[in-house]
Amino acid sequence: MDMLSHDVLIVGGGLAGLRCAVGLCDKYDVALISKVHPIRSHSIAAQGGINAALANNPDARDDTWEKHAFDTVKGSDYLADQDAVEIMCREAPEIVYEMEHWGCPFSRFPDGSIAQRPFGGAGYPRTCYSTDITGHVLLNTLYERAVFKGVKVYPEWHVTALATEDESCHGVIAFDLINGVIMPIRAKATLFATGGYGRVYFYSTNALINTGSGIGIAYKAGVPVKDMEFVQFHPTCLIGTNILMTEACRGEGGYLFNNRGERFMERYAPKAMELAPRDIVSRSIQTEINEGRGFDHPLGRYIRLDLRHLGGKKILERLPGIRKICIDFIGIDPVNEPIPIMPCQHYSMGGIDTDAAGATPVRGFYAAGECACVSVHGANRLGGNSLLDTIVFGKLAAGSIDAYLSGGGAVPDEKAVLRLAGDMEKKISGLVSGGKEKTFALHAELARTMSANVGIFRRQDEMEQALQDIARVRERYRGAGVSSPSRHMNYELMNAIELEYMLEVAHTIALGALLREESRGAHSRRDFTKRDDEKWLKHTIARRGADGSPDTSFRGVAITRYQPMERVY
Ligand SMILES: Cc1cc2nc3c(=O)[nH]c(=O)nc-3n(C[C@H](O)[C@H](O)[C@H](O)COP(=O)(O)OP(=O)(O)OC[C@H]3O[C@@H](n4cnc5c(N)ncnc54)[C@H](O)[C@@H]3O)c2cc1C
Repeated sequence: MDMLSHDVLIVGGGLAGLRCAVGLCDKYDVALISKVHPIRSHSIAAQGGINAALANNPDARDDTWEKHAFDTVKGSDYLADQDAVEIMCREAPEIVYEMEHWGCPFSRFPDGSIAQRPFGGAGYPRTCYSTDITGHVLLNTLYERAVFKGVKVYPEWHVTALATEDESCHGVIAFDLINGVIMPIRAKATLFATGGYGRVYFYSTNALINTGSGIGIAYKAGVPVKDMEFVQFHPTCLIGTNILMTEACRGEGGYLFNNRGERFMERYAPKAMELAPRDIVSRSIQTEINEGRGFDHPLGRYIRLDLRHLGGKKILERLPGIRKICIDFIGIDPVNEPIPIMPCQHYSMGGIDTDAAGATPVRGFYAAGECACVSVHGANRLGGNSLLDTIVFGKLAAGSIDAYLSGGGAVPDEKAVLRLAGDMEKKISGLVSGGKEKTFALHAELARTMSANVGIFRRQDEMEQALQDIARVRERYRGAGVSSPSRHMNYELMNAIELEYMLEVAHTIALGALLREESRGAHSRRDFTKRDDEKWLKHTIARRGADGSPDTSFRGVAITRYQPMERVY
């Protein structure tokens, strides 16, 4: 079997992976693998913006990174590690100016400075943006830089397994989708920047590629995951399609109305109103709907997001993409009509357990971006902090990998990689000649139970139901087979491989949620409605046990300057 070899292997062509690659390619032989062309990564879809205390907005002249850090910690419901939050918020202005100097076209204030808009849970308007296509401009800027600097890219290659032995990482097994071949790749250091797991849920704003397979692959290879029970539900997703209606809609002044014409946020967050953090706004919307104050629609109950009072000029200038999505997908022009929205899954706060420089407990294996849990978002992420997280920690992971390799690193074991390639060959042959179970149906069953039973509000019996459903789907997965034996561009085959990892991810989410007997941030239990700092001010760590189920343990939260307080908005 052929084998490739690189100094550094980066899996993921979104913002985190590209930023790490750009930071290393001058010194090392860096290769980047992405299951889609890098600029089709989910980062491209980010709309609203990226946070940094630049103090450009006339209403934010005294903003500082410390205030940004405080908002982030409070937003996280005090579960974020404060040392890591401080690093992120301190780095933020430099990161934004670096992207600007690399050519990123941010929107501007009349004085030429980078424009900043208000976002949820933030004390100051500090979200830098490019109309409503911020992810698009950031990703293209970084991709151009990576190409310019000669990063070797393997587009449409799926990583299907991680080669770890003796607590060290030796490389990956990839599947070249175009040529239909398995390719073992050896590397001295490997970074996963594989994004979120939104598609483990049925209703999600995430791209179809966001299966979370990277998290599942790392977990199966023995890397611990952290805080998986914390799943973000975005308050405003277009009914029927779940397409995100960016928080910038409310940042620019949009209102939420129920069927009585009330701006109901007054009841839940009288000061912040629509700009309360996402966990609070999502729960408020869901409560309005559950208590009969939503609107009826053939596709479900909804709440109105009203932008009309902003006027056509502002909507066209600041939210042109949102307007176009509404017109194209549901035939509504937000200049004249309110937008029907409901909350749905949006972001993965939990992920691969890393330190503040991207290192994991496995030597030579790193993670950054949404697949990683540093943790800077704790129990609830603030809007605009994820784009920041990807670039800051992508950059810092590059530094950490450089230090590891300069210090000698390790020699990857070729045999460990080849052994795993042999296992993957058997797995693929099994699926190709395999049973009758179709993985699209199994995936739908998994995703439905996650949305129904591990959602915005959670209860013991529902989460137990989800765990039973996951076990049943796992059992049926043993009989899975694909319709076509072809290995070329066979997405059904790739989906079948990924489903195994999605099941692992779902298991850690549901189990973590069941174990955590409190309500904190996005984890809201009907049977344990209060935050319990005495028992639960700690991270959940899950490692895959010998019998295949998660072994969980807990780790304290790093608290530097912000003592936990009641969260009022
Ligand atoms: C609709 C939407 C809007 C958003 N808006 C904002 C916003 O305005 N502000 C903000 O801060 N955050 C926003 N977010 C969140 C933010 O965009 C993401 O968290 C962030 O972009 C993730 O970047 P990433 O680099 O970690 O991963 P991604 O951009 O998701 O990239 C993942 C990469 O991994 C690759 N990959 C995955 N698995 C494999 C595999 N097995 N083998 C090979 N390659 C693999 C993919 O091909 C892809 O290149 C938004 C998210 C969504 C869904």
